[in-house]
Amino acid sequence: FAPWSDPSAKPYISFKNVTKKFGDFTAVDNLSLDIYNREFFALLGASGCGKSTLLRMLAGFEQPTTGEIVLDGQNLAGTPPYRRPVNMMFQSYALFPHMTVEKNVAFGLRQDGMPKAEIAERVVQMLKLVKLEQFAKRKPNQLSGGQRQRVALARSLAKRPKVLLLDEPLGALDKKLREETQFELMDLQQSLGLTFVVVTHDQEEAMTMADRIAVMSHGRVVQVATPAEIYEAPNSRFVADFIGDVNILDGNVTRANGGTVEIAVDNGFTLRTATGEMPAEGSRAGFAIRPEKLRVTPRPPANASINAAEGEIWDIAYLGDMTVLHVKLKSGQVVKASSLNAVRAVEEPFAYDQDVWVSFDENAGVLLRD
Ligand code: ATP
Repeated sequence: FAPWSDPSAKPYISFKNVTKKFGDFTAVDNLSLDIYNREFFALLGASGCGKSTLLRMLAGFEQPTTGEIVLDGQNLAGTPPYRRPVNMMFQSYALFPHMTVEKNVAFGLRQDGMPKAEIAERVVQMLKLVKLEQFAKRKPNQLSGGQRQRVALARSLAKRPKVLLLDEPLGALDKKLREETQFELMDLQQSLGLTFVVVTHDQEEAMTMADRIAVMSHGRVVQVATPAEIYEAPNSRFVADFIGDVNILDGNVTRANGGTVEIAVDNGFTLRTATGEMPAEGSRAGFAIRPEKLRVTPRPPANASINAAEGEIWDIAYLGDMTVLHVKLKSGQVVKASSLNAVRAVEEPFAYDQDVWVSFDENAGVLLRD
């Protein structure tokens, strides 16, 4: 499933140069973005970056100041929320406290004037879907957080929208329940064949659930890609830093030709790589490398003149599944290196202050554009 890499595939939802201003403040800034049918799409970014505003414009609760939103070939301008094949599930769930679970789920259908028998049938179907049949007669305050979340989900799916918008859907759940619910949401999305657009500030959540992620900052999309691409090939310092842990090695570009780049890392060593865009000789560049891609060894590696630096063990953190080493390089920069304990057993253990070498393969990281 990768319609975004098929040039002939038509996007299902398109934001075209969408800007949203609140007074002088620009919440969404000339943003263009395509989402495909049946995609599980995540909008990821820090608080205030404009992701909820984007979702609310798709739902029809806000209008773009300029630009347009197209859904299934139709420009949505002027279409009120209830006439869009889109439904939104809010973080707060917004359940009616005085209504039973089944009444909550039936609410929207009643408003639409659906015949009673049909409503009853649909409600049973929806409660079955979220495994809450036996809770039909309860009120929200007689349910756990996770159950309430599922009622909200059943309610937002009851009208059979083509697109479900989820604004921080798991925000109120504890870690374990969040993880379970992430997989339930993925199953549901797959089995119903719907398009899900989820807003989250939690990168792990986005990585777990989404087919693709749009990383947002200040009302713009910085990168749109699959979780693996975003992690392995962040297109900027911002994305590299925002997703997961990263070490950024900065320096001056001393050579850039024939696909090979050499960087004199500040106060350090010579870095050579052949990945990423070619910077100009003499310019500054950064090389982003994940902790698990750094090797830490007590002795110098075979070719210690390239992609290898001396340092000392600064900190050792045992995290159960992995151990994270902080190594202070001769340059003064502290880098983070991690290794899975399951595969580390063959290595010798390190001690605080021990002199070590940090090395890496030339294509284990990426050059950053900015
Ligand atoms: P969060 O994760 O905190 O919800 P977000 O990325 O979803 O953040 P938005 O809710 O889209 O952010 O808000 C983007 C910016 O627009 C914020 O700075 C917010 O204060 C501003 N904003 C949102 N709605 C309005 C409004 N109705 N009037 C004025 N400013 C608004």
